[in-house]
Amino acid sequence: MAKRTFRSYEDSFGGHQQRSMDFYNHPEKYVIKPFRIFGNLYYVGDKKVCSHLIDTGDGLILIDTGYQHSQHLLIESIYALGFDPRNIRIIIHSHGHFDHFGAGDFMRAVYGSKIYMSRADTESLQKYPQRALMDICPCPLAVICMPDEVIDDGDVITLGNTSIRCVLTPGHTVGTMSFFFDVTDGQTTLRAASFGGVGLLTMHKPYCRRDHLPENMSEVMLHSIQKVKNEKVDIVLGNHPAQNNTLGKRQQMIEKSQTNPFIDPDEWRSFLKELDDQVRDFIEQGY
Ligand SMILES: [Zn+2]
Repeated sequence: MAKRTFRSYEDSFGGHQQRSMDFYNHPEKYVIKPFRIFGNLYYVGDKKVCSHLIDTGDGLILIDTGYQHSQHLLIESIYALGFDPRNIRIIIHSHGHFDHFGAGDFMRAVYGSKIYMSRADTESLQKYPQRALMDICPCPLAVICMPDEVIDDGDVITLGNTSIRCVLTPGHTVGTMSFFFDVTDGQTTLRAASFGGVGLLTMHKPYCRRDHLPENMSEVMLHSIQKVKNEKVDIVLGNHPAQNNTLGKRQQMIEKSQTNPFIDPDEWRSFLKELDDQVRDFIEQGY
């Protein structure tokens, strides 16, 4: 089988910077109409970063808030689904990078949402703020969003009918959190999950040296994959839409409205197997 090839740290960093700048200059290219994934679970992100909204029956939970410069798109998406952002009681950030916590401060200031992030990433950013990757962030006004509450491995966040189990899965950052929770449509309850961060950029050794991380972050990632790979998951949520073909599935949903491609009990296993293979190649090739 052909070996995977990886971009150098410098190329990868430059590519991220370029794509972020394109999003900043042309946000209209990245707009996607929000939609229901299943039952009380909705997609309110853009074409670049995922944000998921859960209607708990007693207020809303928002997972990740995207870039700071596109917060208006997030708010428009929430309204477009018929929800009021003032009902977002809880925001949970998957990890401490600028493209996932961007709109957090605004949402807290305007709508009073309470923000959660892992203790590990919170302490990491307090000590090493450069780990938020603000040097890739295209918006000059963006700031690092700190949480109101920290979460630890195994914590459960409950609101209304929804309990989200938070599992620490470091690798992409030291405090990346993965989330597991039930979603309901009528009589049917399914388990949704998101793996909190998978990109390889922050596992490159030059990056680890730059931001004072241990150089074995890719090994740490393999351990995290092992930790959650046997979870039973019916609906895999992306952290970025490209990771789980969010946009393709949405298109499929529109074209064949009788089927829901987001429901796939085998996807979690295959998603993590692919990630595991990728990280092993990355390590083997000396990155
Ligand atoms: Zn990230």
